[in-house]
Amino acid sequence: MDATAKHATAKIAVWWDMKDCPIPENYVSGLIRSSIEGKFEERGYFGPVTITAYGDQTQISDYKLQGLWTAGISVVHTRSESRHYHMYRDIVEWRGQNPPPATMMIISDEVQGVFDWDLLRLQQRTLYNLFLAYSEGCQAGVILHTSAEWSWRELLYGSKSRRFGFHYPKLYCYSCNFDCNFNCRTLTKFKKHLSSFKHIRQEDVNPTYEQVACVTKDWGRNYKATPEYATAKIQVWWDMTTCPIPEGYDPRRVRPSIEAAFKELGYSGPVSITAFADHNHTPLQALSSTGIDVVHVVPRFTYISTDVFNWHHNNPPQAAAIMMVISDQVDWIKHCLVGLLQANNYILFLAYSFRPSKKSFLLTSGEWLWEDLLAVSEKRAQFLQKCSLLQKCSSESESGGEPTATFYCKLCSFDTKSIDNYRTHLSTDEEHAKEEKRIPAYYNSKIKDNRRSRVAHYNRNHLREVKEYRKSERKRMKKAIRTGFGLLHNQLRRR
Ligand SMILES: [Zn+2]
Ligand SMILES: [Zn+2]
Repeated sequence: MDATAKHATAKIAVWWDMKDCPIPENYVSGLIRSSIEGKFEERGYFGPVTITAYGDQTQISDYKLQGLWTAGISVVHTRSESRHYHMYRDIVEWRGQNPPPATMMIISDEVQGVFDWDLLRLQQRTLYNLFLAYSEGCQAGVILHTSAEWSWRELLYGSKSRRFGFHYPKLYCYSCNFDCNFNCRTLTKFKKHLSSFKHIRQEDVNPTYEQVACVTKDWGRNYKATPEYATAKIQVWWDMTTCPIPEGYDPRRVRPSIEAAFKELGYSGPVSITAFADHNHTPLQALSSTGIDVVHVVPRFTYISTDVFNWHHNNPPQAAAIMMVISDQVDWIKHCLVGLLQANNYILFLAYSFRPSKKSFLLTSGEWLWEDLLAVSEKRAQFLQKCSLLQKCSSESESGGEPTATFYCKLCSFDTKSIDNYRTHLSTDEEHAKEEKRIPAYYNSKIKDNRRSRVAHYNRNHLREVKEYRKSERKRMKKAIRTGFGLLHNQLRRR
């Protein structure tokens, strides 16, 4: 992606892990800055670039260190195991001081697995332009929304920038918090420090920080609405298979409960709800009477992500809007959601029937247990009962009049506004009946095919073990033939 006008002259910060992407043997380290700047300039980015290199600097030659220093690259010494911790801490600090528009670049092989969880959450809240670079053959975290990804090699050997600028690089030792000021003897002082008794003792005594500090861990629990979102429209996708209507609960209370929960947080925009289920077995009349759109699906195959993309497609990009997913299987669409959350001005709410065991990288503005959410309208139940027309009250955020709902069959792409036509379609349409059987059968065969190809892939990578296994199987079979199948039968039973 080429630079937009606001990014063309914005700041660029580069964090470079020298262990994963070292300076090649015969490469002149003084060229690294102009190589990185050159690559950015190709894309239309001309903002000031700061580069910080992290690694065990006792391993770098004086000549290479001199090159980095002259090119205005800051050099940070950390123990190898702590480099991710320090890099990430610096990234977070920089983000705090430099609001967007600004550009970040991370040069590391371990964005995926080390930085991605927290970085993804940060990017959903505040989006920076992000560039990645990594050594040959290493893939970065693909779900991060990046402007470009380069290999370390193409970065080093690409076109060079001709720009000239003053930089004040730092030399820093994170093991001792030792900082070298900018003067002509700085390099000697830094090298001397790294071989000093004091430094070596500090490295031995100080704790090692191996994990990056996830600053976003506690983010996102019932955040109150900001003015931008207070009246934004709210789209709810409700998977009724995993979050059904509880026994004895009035289905007409689902909408008022959801609306009331949002209102408690200050969100009062219009709410659209789409309920995905096998609608042969749901209270269709009651749901649609409160303006809930219904989509018929085969249980386990809800396809919510297609609807999410369609909704995104029908909304102006970047507009403030609210997404909510009610499902225990949000994992199935998390990649689609996180993509949209990074690139648009959307926020996300979740509801589920039980709390997920592992915290997701999806950054939410609120999460509810499904039963707690349904109980929200209880406080307002008395008021609702007084209303002569429950459905009118329950959709008070709509622009007045009878709420309207649409009826859709995902299997046949059949849609109607008439509940009777819909019921007839679900219960008597022959083509529909065929689709209901075909889809699960098709997916089951897909699962078997996938398993077969995974087994074949495993075998290809473990040829020696496969040969040995087959040999032992043949031996066992021969023995079984010799001794009668009773023995084999017993062996199989023991397995
Ligand atoms: Zn030190
Ligand atoms: Zn159908």
